[in-house]
Amino acid sequence: MDEIIVAKFGGNSLADSNQFQKVKKIVTSDKRRRYIIPSAPGKRNKEDHKITDLLYMCHQLASHNINIDEVFSLVENRYIEICRKLGLDLGIEEILNEIKLEIQEGASRDYTASRGEYINGIILAKYLDFEFVDAKDLILFNQDGRLDLEETKRKARERLKDVEYAVIPGFYGADKDGQIVTFSRGGSDITGSIIARAVNSILYENWTDVSGFYMADPRIVENPRSIETVSYKELRELSYMGAPVLHEESIFPIKEVGIPINIRNTNKPEEPGTMIVSDAEAIDTNHIITGIAGKKDFTVLTIDKTNMTEEKGFIRKLASVLESNDITIEHLPTSIDSVSVIVSSSQLDSKLDKVKEEIRIYCRPDNIEAYSNIALIAVVGRGMKNKKGTSARVFTALANAGINIRMISQGFRELNIIIGIENDDFEEAIKAIYDAFNK
Ligand code: ASP
Repeated sequence: MDEIIVAKFGGNSLADSNQFQKVKKIVTSDKRRRYIIPSAPGKRNKEDHKITDLLYMCHQLASHNINIDEVFSLVENRYIEICRKLGLDLGIEEILNEIKLEIQEGASRDYTASRGEYINGIILAKYLDFEFVDAKDLILFNQDGRLDLEETKRKARERLKDVEYAVIPGFYGADKDGQIVTFSRGGSDITGSIIARAVNSILYENWTDVSGFYMADPRIVENPRSIETVSYKELRELSYMGAPVLHEESIFPIKEVGIPINIRNTNKPEEPGTMIVSDAEAIDTNHIITGIAGKKDFTVLTIDKTNMTEEKGFIRKLASVLESNDITIEHLPTSIDSVSVIVSSSQLDSKLDKVKEEIRIYCRPDNIEAYSNIALIAVVGRGMKNKKGTSARVFTALANAGINIRMISQGFRELNIIIGIENDDFEEAIKAIYDAFNK
């Protein structure tokens, strides 16, 4: 089979007719870009609305029998204007009228939200002169709402085998009864990944409004270096990264077969963006550190008990208290007679007294202490492995910046170093670590 590229374009890349023109240029500049996955139109400026948000609002109003005319007209105007400016005559008013009626008559929440991608797909297909293939015929969900990847691959291969060029709307599929089901927000990224896997594409391009990932948050570090290549695993470790560029679940469908993802900027197509590659391929790197990411507002629960390490099942009991309170554990550094559990403060705050009490009952500790205002920083890099002195560089940089380290943890795979510091030191710490590896 010829080489295929699957290209997904995000909401900002398709926010108006001007953006559609950029997308067409990109798509037609490489014949291998055969399957195109659009999101619904995003914001044109800071004050604007995302079409998906407006559709959720329409559903909410309709479910309370409130008139949707005003909100739906915002949706209508956006699509009508795009078609008019691109000179497309595809009876968009009729399509919109039908959808409006369906929403008024009680269409489901998922169905209503999915129409953003559906209509955008029809418009983009017409504009590119590609076939429109409805995602409901390819992407199959189980009755419990989870994707059936095997069946989806089969259906997609079957449906696309004689289709050379197609537009497939992102964000949704259907269950076995044909009812529309959506992914979580930002889920068009997952659609792209699934289609890339189904058609064995050589590359999955994810076109957005940034030129990939930066080594550190540009709101903290001025002009940070951009990341050329990151492995799937590193990206997982960097999931603390501020604004999500890529839906986390996009990695899973293609991980097994190692299809690379290229994050590209629709507004700066000349820039190479970031390549996300399989862990096996990502061996060569000139950089020790790939990225630095972090998050504030964690709480450390420190539990002391003499001879804790001798006691079988201690961690299990502790973990079960957190589990039954629906709290996820972020990190768990231990010492001989004490263990610290690091959890996000927002999960713990309202339940703190109850959790402490239950730990007292189940674990019989000598002492429990809770300390909030902790920030975690992940210093991630496949280049760290077997390189001596990396943590020394991190810690020296923090010491020189006068920052006290409250917690350290390094995984055995030497892919990351996690550091706990005070919330107030967060920005300074990121800057100091960044400088230590870039000056
Ligand atoms: N339009 C959907 C959302 O806003 C899906 C996506 O854009 O990927 O979440």
